[in-house]
Formats: sequence, C-alpha cells, structure tokens
Amino acid sequence: MDCSGCNKCTEINCSVDTKCQQLDRSLMDQWGAISFPIYQTATFAHIGLGQSTGYDYTRMQNPTRQQLESIVGYLENGLDAIAFSSGMAAIATVMELLRPGDHFIIDEDLYGGSIRLFNEISVKNGLTYTAINLSKEDVTPHIKENTKLIYLETPTNPMMNVTDIEKLSEIAKNSGVLLVVDNTFLSPYFQNPLDLGADIVIHSGTKFLGGHHDTIGGFVVVKDKELDEKLRFIYKTTGAGLSPFDSWLILRGIRTLAVRLDRAQENVLKLANFLKRNKHVTKVIYPGLPEHPGYEIMKKQARGFGAMLTFEVDSVEFARSILNNVQLIYFAESLGGTETLITYPITQTHADVPKDVLEKNGITDRLLRLSVGIEGIADLLCEFNRVFAIAEKEVG
Ligand code: PLP
Repeated sequence: MDCSGCNKCTEINCSVDTKCQQLDRSLMDQWGAISFPIYQTATFAHIGLGQSTGYDYTRMQNPTRQQLESIVGYLENGLDAIAFSSGMAAIATVMELLRPGDHFIIDEDLYGGSIRLFNEISVKNGLTYTAINLSKEDVTPHIKENTKLIYLETPTNPMMNVTDIEKLSEIAKNSGVLLVVDNTFLSPYFQNPLDLGADIVIHSGTKFLGGHHDTIGGFVVVKDKELDEKLRFIYKTTGAGLSPFDSWLILRGIRTLAVRLDRAQENVLKLANFLKRNKHVTKVIYPGLPEHPGYEIMKKQARGFGAMLTFEVDSVEFARSILNNVQLIYFAESLGGTETLITYPITQTHADVPKDVLEKNGITDRLLRLSVGIEGIADLLCEFNRVFAIAEKEVG
C-alpha cells in the first residue's frame, strides 16, 4: 500500500504493526539504546531533599517497566497501562476497586483461574456475583443497585463465546457500572476494547504479548484518570509490579506481535478446516469460521479472529490418545507462544472450576484447546494426521 500522506504515522492512528516498534522516546537515555536497558535496581538516589528523578523505588516506578507500560497503553489506546507480575495479579488488583457488600457480574465462561479468584477470594472479601452467558443473555435484569462491575472475556476461554463489547458498554454506562474486558485471547493487535466503550482492559502478558512462553506478566489498561489513580494506589500498596527483567522480555516480545499473530492466524484457519473433516471430531469452535455464532460480531469489533481454537472429539479415550501421542505439538497449559500447545481444560486450566459450571459451559472430558503457533502448516497437519491415525488404532 502507498503512503496516503496523512502524516499520522507517529500519532495514535498509525498501524498496530508500527506501534509495536515505537519506544517512548522521552524515556530513552542519552545513549539511545534501541534495546531498552534493564534497570535492575530496587531503589534510586535522590539529588537532594525533596528532589526526585521521577524514580524512587522500583515497587512504584522503574524505567524498564515504564517503557513497557507506555507501549502497552499505546497499543490499547489507553491513558495508562500498569504492568503486573502476572495476569492474575492484574485481575486481583482490579477486584480491589470493590468494597464488601458490592456485587459484580461475570461471564460464566472464563479462564479457570479467574473463576477461582472470584469464588475463593472475592466472596471471602464480602462480594457477591452473578454468572451469566453474556454472549447470549441480556445483562440488564441482573444489574442491581449494588452492582459495580461487569467482567468478561471475548472470545472466552475455552469455549470461544463472543460478546458484543459496544452493546454491553452502553448498558454498563447507563447503569454506572464498570466494564472490564480480559483481552488476552486476541491481544491489542486484533482488538481494542477501550475503543468499544470498555473502562478497563486486562491482559495476561504471559501470552501473546510476551509471545515466547518464557515469562509471566499481566496488564491493566484504563482511559480514565480517576480510575487510573485508584489502581496505581492499590498497585504501589500491594506491590505486585512486574520485575525489570520480565518487563524487558515482554518489551522484546511485543516487537514481533504482529508477525507472530498473522502467521498463527493463517495456521489456525487451515487447521480448523482440516479438523472439521475428521470423522472423530464432533465440534470445531473457532470464531473465524463463518458458522461460528460470533463471526459477524468479531468482524465488526476486531481486526482478526486470533490463534485459539477449541475442538471436541467423540470419546474421552480418543482425546487422551491425542494428548499422549503429540510430538511436534506440546501438551501444556498456557497459550500465545510461537509453538503450538494443546491443553486439556478439564484437568488443567479449568481443574478448579465447579463441576456444574463445567457441565453448563460444555467443558467435557472430550474437549481440547489449541494455541496455534508459527510452525510450518504442513508439519502441523502431518502431526494431526499421525496422532489421529494412532488414536484410531488405539481406540477404534
Ligand atoms: N486471562 C486469561 C484469558 C488467561 O488465559 C489467563 C491464564 O491462562 C489469565 C488471565 C491469567 O494470567 P497469568 O497466568 O499470567 O496469571
């Protein structure tokens, strides 16, 4: 494509691919290092009484973390991004905005660790919640006088349900309720919930932002100053900030976010169509397939469909055989790295989710989740042909 002459290439409207390469120049030192330095220090010297370089103590601020926060905020079109030691630390901090007696609403299909947090920590802290299928049900009748927040993922982990963020944000706004979107599955490369009306965006930075399965991190991104101040206060008080080295790893990972996701998305669509043709595969759930109920909403609110796919096979034995025989693909939890992972939600990511919730959401012992990487597609297809042939021999 030719340059349009819009002169927007250094402003907020430049492409996400380009944004991934843009360091915050105001934070760069006099040496101009393009690989931003790791400021491995706990504390910072003061020039004199009442004077600060802007950095006092790493729990509160650190230049490497600030550089990372700046780029993540830029990618999400936020006012500020705050970097945490994990995605769960980010979610736990957001929940600290609520007080005993408050109520919140969640989507019933979420990452299992988030459900565990709400069940085991939020409830103990005097909060109550209602879980509904936000992709299908109207949230309005569930909003009470003490409802403070609506929490969702779209697409959800692992069932890939899609919710219309813009529509939900109007209801949330009219009711004075905060809308929180966990954007981990799509990353800011494909979706920007703040632009669609969400108040808070959460990321497990461990996943697509980091991109290499080599570190754990999390983010909260906001567009409102008052909300940001409240979250920054909780952050410095509870102390779950991301370390300088982990900040640097994610900073480096973000440089290739666009190319990794483009390639992974190409692979996942080919795999989805391949899986659909296998007689032992009873369901392929990928929002990039036109038959997915969320396909049109995804086209409207996202720039892509992501690299996550869930599928179901016809017996538990068949599922277990696949898991036992993968060689090129790793049988592991997590997602968003360059290598393809296969996960068994029922014993891994969703092991602590109550049985009735699993059943209601369709998380069975025949369900498998793929985080598709950037390998050669022919090799991934070969791997599946091989493991399906073994499973057929073993199970019949
Ligand atoms: N949100 C989603 C959608 C996840 O899949 C995960 C982890 O798998 C988390 C949040 C938690 O992130 P972390 O493992 O970085 O704490």
